[in-house]
Amino acid sequence: MVARAIRVRQSQVGFARAVVCASRVFSAGASAGDRLAVRAGGTYAARALKCPECGAKNLPEAEHCIACGEPLAGDDEGAPDPRLGRVLGGKLRLDSILGEGSMGCVYAAHQLELDAEVAVKVLHDHVAADPKVAKRFHREARTASRLTHPNTLRVFDFGREDEGKLLYLVMELLDGPDLLELAMEDGPFTPRRIGELVGGVLAALEEAHDAGIVHRDLKPENILVVTDHQGREHPKVCDFGLAKLVEHEGSAITVTGFVCGTPEYMAPEQARGEALDARADLYAVGGLLYLLLAGEVPFKGASALATITEHLTRPVEPPSQRAPNRHVPYALERVCLRALRKNRDERFANAAEMRQALEDAVSALGPLADRPLGSFTEDPTRPKPPSKWKPWHAAVAGGFVLGAVVWAVTREPATTRGGAVRDPDAGETRDAGASIALGPSTRDGGTGVEEAGFVADAGFVADAGATSDDATSDAGGTSTESTARDAGRRRGPATTGTTTTSAATTTNASDARATFEEGRRLFLANDVRGAIARFEEVARLRPNDPEVHKQLGRAWMRAGDVASARRAYRRYLELAPNAPDRTLIEQMISD
Ligand code: ADP
Ligand code: MG
Repeated sequence: MVARAIRVRQSQVGFARAVVCASRVFSAGASAGDRLAVRAGGTYAARALKCPECGAKNLPEAEHCIACGEPLAGDDEGAPDPRLGRVLGGKLRLDSILGEGSMGCVYAAHQLELDAEVAVKVLHDHVAADPKVAKRFHREARTASRLTHPNTLRVFDFGREDEGKLLYLVMELLDGPDLLELAMEDGPFTPRRIGELVGGVLAALEEAHDAGIVHRDLKPENILVVTDHQGREHPKVCDFGLAKLVEHEGSAITVTGFVCGTPEYMAPEQARGEALDARADLYAVGGLLYLLLAGEVPFKGASALATITEHLTRPVEPPSQRAPNRHVPYALERVCLRALRKNRDERFANAAEMRQALEDAVSALGPLADRPLGSFTEDPTRPKPPSKWKPWHAAVAGGFVLGAVVWAVTREPATTRGGAVRDPDAGETRDAGASIALGPSTRDGGTGVEEAGFVADAGFVADAGATSDDATSDAGGTSTESTARDAGRRRGPATTGTTTTSAATTTNASDARATFEEGRRLFLANDVRGAIARFEEVARLRPNDPEVHKQLGRAWMRAGDVASARRAYRRYLELAPNAPDRTLIEQMISD
């Protein structure tokens, strides 16, 4: 029976989990803030000792309940759960305890009529007693039950007993460790395994976010990893909507010092109590990814409050520096740090974009993707350091800068284009004209990690406007291929004096930009064919724009047409020979 297998698993992993969790939650230096969080039953105190009398959470070693003073049994074995054997709603028999969390106790149960095994989460008495919770419970359960992605734990039903004092949720029963156990017992993983596990989580989020559901409490303990009959691993995201049940008004750090949510993965805006969107979950995924890359969470203060403060104020130490022995590949680190940006506008725009970036980062590693972190030191994804630049590179780059300055001072003010543009991918302001030619020398202000573009970049040259495209082409040394029309546009109408040509060109350029953006949208929405059609159209309008060919390459690759992808990527490299992602792409398209 599945349930029996799970019980065995639970007892086998129980000790490791208890050690991990006890050390995480109840470190020797646990502060008053932690104890208050424990008392409040906040999610921080995930595996505290529950008082059988009032349900309050206590430190595992406590002898008396911190809230009501009742003697505590000391361990779970000492206090048999009176609910075991009980039949809920005349159809669900609670057979054994799978585990206990901040919100409730999870049982393996038998669905009598169907003769099926399920999991049932019964909310803790003190949680169910909150009238706000009871009100939200049905709504959240109903929303969660609409999520059907294979990487999301299925929710089948919910119910009430004892005049609404007992609230429960019926779910798919899973047999597998959670991601924290797996990482602690089986890590370090290979980049491919990291990509697949985190990619699965992001795929589940894509569906939920599209349905307007933000998880709010993503943590490795809420991701169970099951193995199918072919031995393939699948992450399953649990507890969608549940964090909302106990959400308090205002900041996560309330005036009373209670902490709501799991501080290790809490986005800064969540700590501040701002309205949340999908990007808070992406921050948490950044934390998960950090854990898998470095073997530790990004921030771990002496208390929950200290951890939250670090999320708000402290720059993230790159995983490669935190765990130098793991030789974390640059491309993976870059995805992680982008997700962990404090300003959500600088993170990935959505789960699909992050998933794509992760996928690209893993495939850029080639065969190294199948070796565990720490077992290899090569990193084909790391851009070459600027010190290796030959003097003639500097001369060429200097020439372009000089050219750009001359152009800038001679152009008409009304045609102000180019110069500093916002790069939505890098989340920073940089010189559009130099973005490709000088790629390796641009730096990430927030983290100290180089922000040179690589294949995972969305590019968004079209966002930056026509000048950035032109400058990019120039930097790639392909200005000779520019058409007369392009040249006219570059100089602007005042210089050329051909207003008609200029108007037509402007329309063309904005058409191309709109089509390019449409292509990006379709790509992110997984309509790869639609995206390809748009990019092909832009490529016809702007055959010398390297970015379009790069996006075409990605889209063909995603569509599984490697030959077309190679063709497009080759064209990209021809047009932008100094592209910082050259090595990555060459490696990707090599046989
Ligand atoms: P938390 O509040 O920390 O997320 P939960 O109450 O969700 O804790 O889960 C408690 C324990 O039950 C965890 O160890 C989790 O792995 C296990 N669990 C939760 N849901 C299921 C399920 N559907 N199948 C099997 N085990 C589960
Ligand atoms: Mg859970």
